[in-house]
Amino acid sequence: MSIPEFVKPAPSYWQYLPYFKHLRGVYLFGKVYLKKEIYENLNNPSPDPYFESILVHELKHKEQVEKTGYIIFSIKYLFSRNFRLNSELEAIKAQITFLKSKDIKYPYIERTAKALSSWVYLWAGDYAVIKTVLDSWVRK
Ligand SMILES: [Zn+2]
Repeated sequence: MSIPEFVKPAPSYWQYLPYFKHLRGVYLFGKVYLKKEIYENLNNPSPDPYFESILVHELKHKEQVEKTGYIIFSIKYLFSRNFRLNSELEAIKAQITFLKSKDIKYPYIERTAKALSSWVYLWAGDYAVIKTVLDSWVRK
C-alpha cells in the first residue's frame, strides 16, 4: 500500500494530550495523522497489515467528510450519537473487509466496542449492540 501525501505522522506531543493519546489515527483538517510507530511501519517494505487497516479506516473517514462537507460532518459527528456511531462502524467495516482480503480476522472486537461505548467516542453506542454488529461482520 502506498502512502498518500496527506498522510502524516502525528506530532509527538499528542501522547500528552488527554484525548489524542487514545487514538491510533485521526482524520483532521484534510490530513490523516497516524501514530508515529504506525506511520513508520507503513513505510517499511512489508508493513503490518493491521496498521495498514488503520489507514484504510482513516481513508474511509476522509471519504465521509468529503461527501458530507467538513463543517456539517464535524457538527453531526460531535452532536449526533447515531451519526458518530454509524461513521465509525462504516470505517471499521472497511477495516474488517481489508483484513479479510488478507485472510486476517479483525482482532479487536471487544476493545473497539469498549472504546466506542466510552467517553473516547462520547458514548457513541451500547457495548453489547456494537459487539454483536462487529461479531457478525467478522464472522461473515
Ligand atoms: Zn474512526
